[in-house]
Amino acid sequence: MTDPRPVLRQCVACRCLVDRRQLWRVVRLAGGGLALDAGIGRSAYLCPSPSCLDEARRRKRLQRSLRCPVSDGLYADLLARIATSGPATPEAR
Ligand SMILES: [Zn+2]
Repeated sequence: MTDPRPVLRQCVACRCLVDRRQLWRVVRLAGGGLALDAGIGRSAYLCPSPSCLDEARRRKRLQRSLRCPVSDGLYADLLARIATSGPATPEAR
């Protein structure tokens, strides 16, 4: 089940190229509004880490990438995800 050629996307905060399956995708929906991980529209990618989330918020990287306002609620949702899923430790198993 290992894809030999992962699709890389650039995090809007740290600008690292990462397999997109490991990134959050924030989608600007065609009908207006924003969605996470689903939907069709202009997308921005972000590492699921507090540091990248903070960087993106402070520097308005999502706004710039998506060219639309990003509410605090979206950042709060992402932060909540980190809190619930815990730190990512791919080496743990
Ligand atoms: Zn990042």
